Amino acid sequence: MLMRKRLILFVLAILLISPLSHTEAATPRAYNDRSLIYLTFDDGPHRQTGALLDVLKKHKVKATFFILGNNIKGNEKMLRRIVAEGHLIALHGMTHDRHKFYRTPTTAVREMQDVQRRVFQVTGVKSNIVRTPYGSDPYMTLAHRRAMTKAGFQMWDWNIDSLDYRYKTDNRRVQNQVFARLDANYKARIASIILTHDHSITPTALDYIIRNAKAKKRGYAFRTLQGLKNPHNFFNKWKPHR
Ligand SMILES: [Zn+2]
Repeated sequence: MLMRKRLILFVLAILLISPLSHTEAATPRAYNDRSLIYLTFDDGPHRQTGALLDVLKKHKVKATFFILGNNIKGNEKMLRRIVAEGHLIALHGMTHDRHKFYRTPTTAVREMQDVQRRVFQVTGVKSNIVRTPYGSDPYMTLAHRRAMTKAGFQMWDWNIDSLDYRYKTDNRRVQNQVFARLDANYKARIASIILTHDHSITPTALDYIIRNAKAKKRGYAFRTLQGLKNPHNFFNKWKPHR
């Protein structure tokens, strides 16, 4: 009987301790803490990815890369470097063709399974974190969402669009856009998930964004989307709880 009691206490202790082991650097912050920034890069790997990785390394910042399956061939080394430097690999489909990807719920799931397999073959990492091409709005129907969830994928959109694909090398406009939205999220007390692209954001703009976010007296910290529950996406509006 005593043994059993001890066993129950032991199990309870483990249950109490275990959530801590999932947090990064044992910080008590929730993912929707307004001082957290999640940098995300879509559509890579790309020839510019290396320069972006250099900037992240310089600032000791980890980010999330949503990989496009059709861009892996010839860029395998870069994909492995992303993993080796501690960033999170996530999935962005194969074709980036909205007609092909969203044609049916099955085509969407298949593209994610394809890129998942290819990423695994190259890096040994099996990711189930996905961002669908152009984000979930407006092409993801309820049937698409259900199929994706049933296949075990966790879908993430963003709440700051850097507009890097529009402004390209016009760094100041990208930077202004990001900091205007960062201020808005801070006021709204929500974390920031920033959308950028390997092929569009310049290393200079990335460097500026990280440096100036860190310089603000808001205690900003950068995280990957690893291990988070309740993904933020456009159809499942996240509720800030602070
Ligand atoms: Zn994309």
